[in-house]
Amino acid sequence: MRETPVIDKNEIEAQKAVMELVKNGFSGRSPKALVETYGCQQNVNDSQRLKGMLTEMGYSLTEDRDEADLILMNTCAVRDNAEQRVFGNLGALKHLKAKKPELIIGVCGCMPQQEHIADRIRAKYRHVDLIFGTHALYRFPSLLAEALEHRSRVIDIGGEGAIAEGLPVLYDNGAKAFVSIMYGCNNFCSYCIVPYVRGRERSRRAEDVLAEIRALAERGVKEVMLLGQNVNSYGGDRGETDAFAELLYMVNEIPGIERIRFMSSHPKDLSEGLLLAMSRCAKVCHQLHLPLQSGSDKVLRDMNRRYGAEKYLSIVSRARELMPDISLTTDIIVGFPTEERTDFEDTLKILEAVRFDSIFSFIFSPREGTPAAKMESAATNEEKSAWFQEMLDLQNRISAEINAKCVGQVRDVLVEGESRHEPDMLFGRDYANKIVNFRGDISMKDKIVKVRITKAQTWILYGELM
Ligand code: SF4
Repeated sequence: MRETPVIDKNEIEAQKAVMELVKNGFSGRSPKALVETYGCQQNVNDSQRLKGMLTEMGYSLTEDRDEADLILMNTCAVRDNAEQRVFGNLGALKHLKAKKPELIIGVCGCMPQQEHIADRIRAKYRHVDLIFGTHALYRFPSLLAEALEHRSRVIDIGGEGAIAEGLPVLYDNGAKAFVSIMYGCNNFCSYCIVPYVRGRERSRRAEDVLAEIRALAERGVKEVMLLGQNVNSYGGDRGETDAFAELLYMVNEIPGIERIRFMSSHPKDLSEGLLLAMSRCAKVCHQLHLPLQSGSDKVLRDMNRRYGAEKYLSIVSRARELMPDISLTTDIIVGFPTEERTDFEDTLKILEAVRFDSIFSFIFSPREGTPAAKMESAATNEEKSAWFQEMLDLQNRISAEINAKCVGQVRDVLVEGESRHEPDMLFGRDYANKIVNFRGDISMKDKIVKVRITKAQTWILYGELM
């Protein structure tokens, strides 16, 4: 059995000492920091650690760029449009820096972990003071201290990261929390940049994950989302098999935790043991996000996904056999370079066959450094856009039909607060993660209540409190 690579405790203690020094350096003043987060839940989770460290260093958090003393962009490299947004926002900050030279601007996360992006930021965005990648996240206090002291640019985009335990985390208030159980990915899907920017899989020790969840439960958290690029291979880097199913059984025993979710799952690694654990653990929501990406075996092969449509459908069928009420969601890429009309039609056939509750779909976005970025595209951009719309139309019909069947059912809803679009209503989520709006008192926030569904729209359910 191999060991989990963990950052030495003394190194974490040294970072904590630096946090104290930075705080003392502000002599009672509380500067303001803005952390902008792009991308996936893993990045949201990383931002909570950055905010935790900032709070320990004496910063208070703000959402207002004009009043910030530090602006940190925690970036995502998965799609081109997210990167372009970051570059646009960085350009806009140039004027702010000119007006307020003491402002510290930082870029971290997946984007600077790519050498060509780090070079571009270095060369074209000279007002950026701090550049660091995903593996250097735990060194943020030292990097910031250096930038504050020397007022010169600090860059740290090196190395593959071991796991850093014991850093402060600023969780969002509320009854839900994200918990990363592993980092990185070994799969090298041909379109994906993640293994290059987040490194190989490293799984946290089960005792560290459980300790974090117990502490969250003590703070009133009722629902945890266990995060990893491929949670199904949790523990595989230590030579363990089916360790994720074992972890679910253990989390299921933690008092105070009432709901457990997880994402993402790779179909090639989804085991019978995991489906059994889902069906046997009362707190694990019968909800599975299982990225399909394409319904065509040819495209799946070119994507290096290492499963075919038949295998995917067999997982769905077994999941439904064990959990007839299971809610399924997926990711689809439209317009992968080798995709032709017949391949796209195979995807539509799977959407019809599986009837997902919802899908997250994207038009293929080439990522420099991945094999797919070098492939010739079989379809035109116009064709890809038309296919994309055709797929959305199909899925909207299916989602609306599935939601219509919820009318009359009673759902347990974890109340999150007032609805953003209908302020006289509360909103929460049911076991399937569907949004449910209903009238009720805000004192119900963070509680699980019973709601009878009275009306269904494509993306939202409406109901009455029981
Ligand atoms: S499983 Fe594939 S798509 Fe998911 S993070 Fe790993 S390489 Fe990317």
